[in-house]
This record gives sequence, C-alpha cells and structure tokens, in this order.
Amino acid sequence: MTANAFPDEAHPIIWPENFRAAASFTFDVDAESCTIAHDPTSTRRMSLMSHQSYGPRVAVPRLLKILERQEIHGTFFIPGFTAESYPDVVRRIVDGGHEVAHHGYLHEPMQGIDAATEANYLDRGLEALAKVAGVRQVGYRAPWWTLTGHSPALAAARGFLYDSSLLDGDAPYRMAVAPGDSRDIVEIPVDWALDDWEQYAFYPGVTGSGVIESPAKVLEMWTLEAEAHHAQGSCFVLTNHPFISGRPSKAVALEQLIERVNAMDGMWVTTLERIAEHTKATVNEIHSHARIEVPTSPGAGASFKPARLLEAIPR
Ligand SMILES: [Zn+2]
Repeated sequence: MTANAFPDEAHPIIWPENFRAAASFTFDVDAESCTIAHDPTSTRRMSLMSHQSYGPRVAVPRLLKILERQEIHGTFFIPGFTAESYPDVVRRIVDGGHEVAHHGYLHEPMQGIDAATEANYLDRGLEALAKVAGVRQVGYRAPWWTLTGHSPALAAARGFLYDSSLLDGDAPYRMAVAPGDSRDIVEIPVDWALDDWEQYAFYPGVTGSGVIESPAKVLEMWTLEAEAHHAQGSCFVLTNHPFISGRPSKAVALEQLIERVNAMDGMWVTTLERIAEHTKATVNEIHSHARIEVPTSPGAGASFKPARLLEAIPR
C-alpha cells in the first residue's frame, strides 16, 4: 500500500497523487418539492412553503458566496420541480462552476414503486435540468436516500456515472447495476451522521425531533468525522439542505468546517463527479448487491415489526 491508499478490504482505493483522503460538500436543494411530494395540500400552508423557499431564495446565494470564498466547488442535487421553480438560482449554481446532479423530479417517495414509474421520475428530472440549466447530470441521489432495486440499472441506462444514496462504506466503489449484469456505476456512500437534517430540521407537525441543535455541537461532530476520514484515508461526504444549513449561524459553522477540512494535509476537496471519475478509472473490483432472501424459520409470525421503525423516520 502506498501512503495515499485507503486500505479497507471491502473498498480499497488509491487517491490521486498528493492526496491521502477526499471530502465533498453536497447540497440537496429540495425546497418545496419534498413537502409537496409528501402532501400535495401543503401548498396551502403559506408558512411551511416559506420555510422551504428560504433555501433557494436566501440560503443558496449565501452558500455560493461561502464556497467561492473557500475556493471549493460543491455538488448540488436539485429536483426537477425545484429547477423549474427557481431557474435563476440553478443558473447561478452552474455559473459558479459547481456540479448539478439529479434528485428526482418532485422528490418523489420511492418505496414500492415499479421500474416504469421510477424511469418517468428520472426522465422528467433530466428534462427539467436540461431545459433550465442546459446541463446533463452524471450524478444521482435518490429522494430520501431511498435507492430501489431498479435504480442502478435505470441510472446506467441514462448515462449516469454515479449514485450517492447508499450507506455501506467509507469510500467510493463500483457496483454492478444488478447481479449478473455487466454494467456498473460508482457508489459514493453517505451517512446519517453527516446529514444536517438530523441535526437541525424542525417544522411543527411535519418533521424533526423537536430539537434544533447548536451549530457549535454540530461543527464539533462533523469535524471529528472529517478528521477520522482524513486519518484513515477515506471519503467524507456531507449532505446539507440549504433551507436548514443556509440559516445564519449554521452557515457560519459550515464555513468554519470547510476551512478546517481545506486545511487538512492532503485532503482532496472536490465534487462527487470528480471523485466518481477517479473511482471509475482506477478501481477494478465491482461489487454486487444481491437482494436478501428472507429466511423461513419455525418461529415465523414472531413479533418484530420493522414497519413501525420506518414510520418513525421523520422525513
Ligand atoms: Zn432531498
């Protein structure tokens, strides 16, 4: 192993010369999409809509200034409906040299949908971003990080290079789009501990734990994660939602975090697209995610009810 290799047996990767780890700051510009997808009547709730529109109207311009000051590029996952609602904001993101990536059309719920429906969401999202910003995305992040068994093959068929919705690694890897299928895409894993939703999201009756954490605590937590990824040579991927992390003290804390990560020796701070390109070009091994066969057992009918856990997830 050379000094810039991440020696994880499952996901070994050798970073480009002069880098020992990677970091990417990503922004999911959900705006109103995620609330409308969950409940179409939410458009009648003016205050809720204003909470969501704060993202593109106020927070994205502030965040773009931070990224410019820190001289880094971010990856912005934008639902097609958000792009159509705020075309000027999307163009500013593109003009800043940042990556624009796919995040559904209306941030649709993905549980239980069939492949044709999912393909329609993907195509509508692609059309919207092409029309508004003239860009063809190579990256996909499933709404609510809910990748389905269909998603990788549908993404590959549309020329996507990577997905960033799974949680089974500290570093990017290549995955077969289906068992036995020769096509693959890159997966760049995420982590609930590195998502601002769990730290700050709150809207009465809609989402959140009821606790809006201190940015000082969040800065400490995320710094520890970044330091650990840097030390072991893996890939730090932070997920922020502008309507949450673009508010004043949270944006200040985010800029302090970016400063710290930028200062880490040999940390490659870049977009997910660059990380995916590097992974595709240098990693040979391809992982396969076979669907788990549920075992039969004599105790069938026992009492564990995972559906209750799923319902408890706030978003
Ligand atoms: Zn989202």
